[in-house]
Amino acid sequence: MDRLDAEIAGCRRCPRLVAWREQVAATKRAAFRDEEYWGRPVPGFGAHDARIGILGLAPAAHGGNRTGRIFTGDRSGDVLFAAMHRAGLANQPTSTSRDDGLAITATRIFAAVRCAPPDNKPTPAERDTCAPYLHRELALIRPDLRVVIALGGFAWAAFWPALRAVYGVAPARKVPFGHGTLWQADGAPALLGCYHVSQQNTFTGRLTPGMLDEVFTRAKALAGIG
Ligand code: SF4
Repeated sequence: MDRLDAEIAGCRRCPRLVAWREQVAATKRAAFRDEEYWGRPVPGFGAHDARIGILGLAPAAHGGNRTGRIFTGDRSGDVLFAAMHRAGLANQPTSTSRDDGLAITATRIFAAVRCAPPDNKPTPAERDTCAPYLHRELALIRPDLRVVIALGGFAWAAFWPALRAVYGVAPARKVPFGHGTLWQADGAPALLGCYHVSQQNTFTGRLTPGMLDEVFTRAKALAGIG
């Protein structure tokens, strides 16, 4: 896993995303002008023997692309890690920097695309170029992984090719994304849909802390975590 993480962090396969992540890192947001941005792809974070996977879209330009850790340093992460702390899966409710002492339990967090994309919208070609990293990461945690929480429709859609590539399993028909939708098959981890923890969803009340708590309660039950 450490070798994979290092390989991901050095990747430059997508010219548009390389240019964007580095431009953001150079120009910075005013509030972070004294910080050195990571400005590189963001590897997965968490346990190497995770029973729960959390699959996001991509790092945020001034979040993961700044701090170098997925969902760290932005409002989405504030919501996610607070929920993980309530669920007993994180030792603290906040995630502000790579050296903030955060440790998560039995869980690994990763994104379908590892570089921050403009407008949070990777192209299909960028998604497909990055997909092998997700597949390799899933293969490494396969022995223990029991459930993947897909945060939003992009992550949901990215999981099916991974399922085919890593587990050789494909659903008989397309399963549409929905909050609370659960898909299960023999020989593969369960897939649980959850609205993305974006500000757009959490500020509007589309995704509430109570809804996130329910998702983590279900995920823990599926993962056999008491
Ligand atoms: S999105 Fe993925 S494949 Fe493309 S440059 Fe970033 S890490 Fe590499």
